[in-house]
Amino acid sequence: MEKPTPTHCQRHPDAVAGWSCDNCQALLCPDCVATRRSLSTEYLSCGLCQGRAMPRVVHRSRTPLAQRLRKAWRYPFNQTGMAVLIGLSFLLTVCRWAAEATFLLLKFLPMVIGLGIFWGAFFHIVRTTARGEHEMDTPDYSEVFSDCVVPAMRGLVGTSLLWVPGLLYLRYVRRWDVSKPMDDLLSKPAFYVTGGLPQLDWSQVVWDPVLWLIVLAGALYLPMVLLLSAAGKSVWTMLNPLAVLGAARRLGRDFLLTLGALAVLAVALVVGQLVATGLLRLELPLFSRWAAELVTCIAPFLMAHVLGLLLYSRGDELGYGAPSDYLEPVLGATRPRVEAPALRVAPAAPAEPAPEASASLTETLSALTQAVGAQDSGKALALYAGLSEPRFLKQVEPAHHLFVGQAAVAQGQYPLAVKALETAADVAPDGPEASRALVLLARVYGERLKEPERAASIYRYVVHRYPNTDASRFASRHLSPTS
Ligand SMILES: [Zn+2]
Ligand SMILES: [Zn+2]
Repeated sequence: MEKPTPTHCQRHPDAVAGWSCDNCQALLCPDCVATRRSLSTEYLSCGLCQGRAMPRVVHRSRTPLAQRLRKAWRYPFNQTGMAVLIGLSFLLTVCRWAAEATFLLLKFLPMVIGLGIFWGAFFHIVRTTARGEHEMDTPDYSEVFSDCVVPAMRGLVGTSLLWVPGLLYLRYVRRWDVSKPMDDLLSKPAFYVTGGLPQLDWSQVVWDPVLWLIVLAGALYLPMVLLLSAAGKSVWTMLNPLAVLGAARRLGRDFLLTLGALAVLAVALVVGQLVATGLLRLELPLFSRWAAELVTCIAPFLMAHVLGLLLYSRGDELGYGAPSDYLEPVLGATRPRVEAPALRVAPAAPAEPAPEASASLTETLSALTQAVGAQDSGKALALYAGLSEPRFLKQVEPAHHLFVGQAAVAQGQYPLAVKALETAADVAPDGPEASRALVLLARVYGERLKEPERAASIYRYVVHRYPNTDASRFASRHLSPTS
């Protein structure tokens, strides 16, 4: 991912270059790039040659994970985060109360719903964080099966790694005899009404170091299992030790760092449980349970956020999302500092081209006219691409811009198509070509460049600017009812 090229601006050696010019290949800092507005679209242009400036990108993992983790604790502590926590913990309170108050056979339902709410939120946090969101938002539970039941099953399968191996060890290696407490439990008629747990004598086994090693191994293994699960891997991949250890090895130091952060949060989890116990002792109606549920949620949700940060930074190595999603602008959200006037009032007084340049310009323009007349799209595109400067482009007929735009679309040369179509509408906004060029421009953005928002904004502009035309009718059919 590292680029071998220098990373500083050509004109300002102290400034990091956040863009490069498509045309003259110059590396540009925020002072050397201008934001231009052409009709409804905005683009960046090179301060040296007015070519199209493209952001330079680096892999997200160039920002050290430690730096991201340091700010992670803030995640739930803002207005929206607290509102979501309060809402979720209320739902969990109701589920827990329903599970306690109902008969054995009915407990199943509120327990599954509660687990679904909790694990649905957990995986939702991992995935939204991995998308780059910094604030907690409300999970979507509209699909009962995929938003609730599946997360609950995945959470249960994952966390069973913490206790199932230990229990198997106690039962089959230590030969811990639990038949008497189990018989006691099953012989009590009350069990079949309200349910309950066997009265086990833990003192026999609780100091067994092998048991604790097994639990510790499960605890180290669990984060990667949950990460793979959030990344949409199958349950078999989650449980396949080769897949889990392979993924952990690929992430290397970052995974160890994540385990460290999770260990700190595990302490927070215990503290949360202690606070919750204290709150329950207060026995304030509803409030005690609700507040207890809320404080126990904070640490696990922060754990989900930490896992999400690892996925955000290195998820491509787990096959999560498209590789291009992991590239971010070198300068982050920094914007160019120069705001250029719109193209049609731009270059106020350009220097007259030198006589020889002017002669060759006239030749190029007449060659372009001939090529367009002969419908020779290859030649027209080559000549047009040579006309890099806006002042030259302004001398080309609108219909020729449109022809070049259509030919460039047909040949898949989208940047050239965008330039030609924008210019077609720009040089003669009231001419017959403008609305056709804009509709085609919107289609290029929407269908080829996969930028639906930009396409929609152009369609809206066409509807507004050219009412009662074929173009506006076409545009309004392509706008969704909400836009
Ligand atoms: Zn340039
Ligand atoms: Zn510069």
